[in-house]
Amino acid sequence: MISVQNLHKSYKDNEVLKGISLTVEKGQVVAIIGPSGSGKSTFLRCLNVLEQADKGQITIDDVAVDIANLTNKKTELLRHKTAMVFQNYSLFKNKTVKENITMPLVTVQKKSQREADSIAENLLAQVGLSDKENFYPNSLSGGQQQRVGIARAVALNPYAILFDEPTSALDPELVGEVLQVIQSLALSNMTMIVVTHEMSFARQVADHVVFMAEGYIVEQGTPEEIFNNPKQERTKKFLQQLS
Ligand code: ADP
Ligand code: MG
Repeated sequence: MISVQNLHKSYKDNEVLKGISLTVEKGQVVAIIGPSGSGKSTFLRCLNVLEQADKGQITIDDVAVDIANLTNKKTELLRHKTAMVFQNYSLFKNKTVKENITMPLVTVQKKSQREADSIAENLLAQVGLSDKENFYPNSLSGGQQQRVGIARAVALNPYAILFDEPTSALDPELVGEVLQVIQSLALSNMTMIVVTHEMSFARQVADHVVFMAEGYIVEQGTPEEIFNNPKQERTKKFLQQLS
């Protein structure tokens, strides 16, 4: 499982995470919702150690770290437990679709090119992009690029995938195909934390919903609890603004 205890992060004197504690069971899908600026992206980046938190404990699977005593070795171990999917896809523009997936497998995970190719081919078939293997990202739609981004994350065989607003940059008509891929991963029991503005998706796919505001987890519960019976005023207000 993933267990986060009392995570704090400041940028200079701006405290962005003010003691976040969260547990995610293996195979669970957790949706994080909340207004912009509340620390959602920072939280994911701290979990993936793209950003180092100031204080707190993070356990992912068999790697447990106290941020205060984070060694390079532990950073590396923790980082490899999760894979990120970003809003802007962040694919390598000068690599083909297939190379985008195989490159980290060969360079970081030291897999053979043949094994990496086979993993990439399987995953591209799963996200419906077998015919785009040799295309460059710029010749794909946003929805297709994001499906490559997801395939690349899955290829790393992480303990969990962290999605940071994976559909926010997409034209509305392309959102569905990406959410469908994420939903199919949920059905395959992948552990996922998804920061999203897509409330109907969160309601449908998440096992657990977390509402964040101003660096705190204000409220968390089942989709039913959060969307139908929010207890905190702050949550009610946020949800009202959306409808
Ligand atoms: P969210 O994803 O919920 O919109 P963020 O985690 O992106 O929120 O940002 C939370 C706060 O942290 C914001 O006030 C933002 O300006 C600040 N912040 C985020 N990243 C940085 C950074 N690299 N340097 C300084 N401040 C940052
Ligand atoms: Mg964000």
